[in-house]
Amino acid sequence: MAPGGSACKEVLEFRLPISDDDIATKKSEATSITTKSSTGVGGKHGIYSSNGVHELLECPVCTSMMYPPIHQCPNGHTLCSNCKIRVHNCCPTCRRDLGNIRCLALEKVAESLEVPCRYQYSGCHDIFPYYSKFKHEQNCRFRPYSCPCAGSECPVMGDIPTLVAHLKDDHEVDMHDGSTFNHRYVKSNPHEVENATWMLTVFNCFGRQFCLHFEAFQLGIAPVYMAFLRFMGDENEAKKFNYSLEVGANGRKLIWQGIPRSIRHSHRKVRDGQDGLIIQRSLALYFSGGDRQELKLRIAGRIWKED
Ligand SMILES: [Zn+2]
Ligand SMILES: [Zn+2]
Ligand SMILES: [Zn+2]
Ligand SMILES: [Zn+2]
Repeated sequence: MAPGGSACKEVLEFRLPISDDDIATKKSEATSITTKSSTGVGGKHGIYSSNGVHELLECPVCTSMMYPPIHQCPNGHTLCSNCKIRVHNCCPTCRRDLGNIRCLALEKVAESLEVPCRYQYSGCHDIFPYYSKFKHEQNCRFRPYSCPCAGSECPVMGDIPTLVAHLKDDHEVDMHDGSTFNHRYVKSNPHEVENATWMLTVFNCFGRQFCLHFEAFQLGIAPVYMAFLRFMGDENEAKKFNYSLEVGANGRKLIWQGIPRSIRHSHRKVRDGQDGLIIQRSLALYFSGGDRQELKLRIAGRIWKED
């Protein structure tokens, strides 16, 4: 039994994914930072992270930044509220019962901190009060984009040039230069919606990239085809562009005009919002000509920039 308090029952069984050495190292760093920074904490604002105070706010268990409520054990070891639940109320550093002690001092220190955005490495140079940093990061224009490829659970993230290279190399997506296009979609067995799945083509114009999606899905009980454009960039830039899509045959024509959506919006969200050209299957087969056994659609499109 530890002197002066109850030790945790699960001491022997309990293992964290990181070793005690890691915790010990982090803790000693943290301790030295406390001493170093104690002279700088007096000011009302503007404590920059460069003095290492913000490392104190890094949870020693999961290493993510801590937000209130920040917890501590009776010996002063801090940890975040998620980890407090995970460790079953047992301090991972000294093994004492954590109880329910908030570390108000650290929460106050955090309030006075100004910290850089976590996407500083990709070009965001703004500095934020600690508690609004997280909110900013969720909308930071420098945060990486997800791979725009639909239909695969692709985990790749990155900036636009990285994703363009990734689409080309790893998904073998067709790349086209120019702002007008004439695209043919052929499918031999159009009666199986699953079989038609999705297709992606990338267009390069105005120095930017656009993803043209074409896919079959079930809209309510009706099988439909849908084509729409997404912009490889943020929404505020996407709004500067327009696009049109046309499909038809035998003197009939469907025309869609829209604004490309940012790839920040998931493929699914745009599709389910029906923000694109939707072609009922019977009409698609009519446009395909022939014996209606094969899907042969020609979609003409144009992208232009609003002044
Ligand atoms: Zn944690
Ligand atoms: Zn402890
Ligand atoms: Zn940012
Ligand atoms: Zn991908």
